[in-house]
Amino acid sequence: MRPLRYLVKCQRCGLPARLKVASRWTDGHIIEWKTYALACQDCAEAALADARARRDACRTDPGETIDPPVILEPPNFSPNGSADAKGAARHGGRPSK
Ligand SMILES: [Zn+2]
Repeated sequence: MRPLRYLVKCQRCGLPARLKVASRWTDGHIIEWKTYALACQDCAEAALADARARRDACRTDPGETIDPPVILEPPNFSPNGSADAKGAARHGGRPSK
């Protein structure tokens, strides 16, 4: 199978999206990136503000934590999965243990 390649569009203006707005979520055992938006450079700040509002409105269970949303650039621009750990390490992310 060919690797999956498709154009990701900004959810605000429809231009090619280069950035992802996401939060790190954990229940104390599992850490996942929750994606709020895909955005182009121009829309990233607005998408981030929107993501912050959505995150603040999101209820969490005891033990659950949702970090404030951040803008991720392509090296971290990966779906939830093993690539996140490598990406976080490359970017000096917080150690998880
Ligand atoms: Zn845009």
